[in-house]
Amino acid sequence: MNRLAQIEAVRHKAAECCNCQLSETRKRVVFGSGNPQAKLTIVAEGPSAMDDQTGEPFTGPAGDLLDQVLAENGLRRQDIWLTNILKCRAAAWTGKRLKNRPPKSAEVKACAKWLTEELALISPTVILCMGSPSAKAIIRTDFRLSQERGIWFTDNDRAPFVAATYNPAFILRMDDLDQSFAEGRQTLINDIAAAKQKLTQSPVASQLTLF
Ligand code: SF4
Repeated sequence: MNRLAQIEAVRHKAAECCNCQLSETRKRVVFGSGNPQAKLTIVAEGPSAMDDQTGEPFTGPAGDLLDQVLAENGLRRQDIWLTNILKCRAAAWTGKRLKNRPPKSAEVKACAKWLTEELALISPTVILCMGSPSAKAIIRTDFRLSQERGIWFTDNDRAPFVAATYNPAFILRMDDLDQSFAEGRQTLINDIAAAKQKLTQSPVASQLTLF
């Protein structure tokens, strides 16, 4: 079975998953998407409300910003693999409204099997974690995004090069937090450029293409 077929088999299994209580509120399981041959993988936290409707990661405003910062680096979604540590939207009913909530550690733990299977098949050279929950799941449980953003880790068993940056959804809220959206956006562009550059520094760089 080729890699695409293997990924599709895992996607198919995950689509039926009821291993945590997020299965009770989700509409769709949102598995990774993009190019399964890609050497660059982006891992964010979990599906948004819109992702839950579409079944695709990073749809809506945060997805639009991601598309922009990828394009600034000459990349498209189909050049990378894009996924989340959680495959179902973390939400809870508040009255008649389903509202986003932080995922519980038990849910992240329950979903880790899908990310592990997915990354083992994709076998990325570079992983860029977007947001603190992703970095804590992939790099270190006590990872501090404010202090360690942009630092490259080479001792991770998921990929030769791993780093973390901001989640585009956070960048979109920066003006509300009295931080500059423009600066945050530029940081994201720079961190993706660094991730792209890392592909050329791999010990097997001569064998690598972007995807
Ligand atoms: S979040 Fe993950 S573990 Fe929980 S139901 Fe969805 S796919 Fe299964």
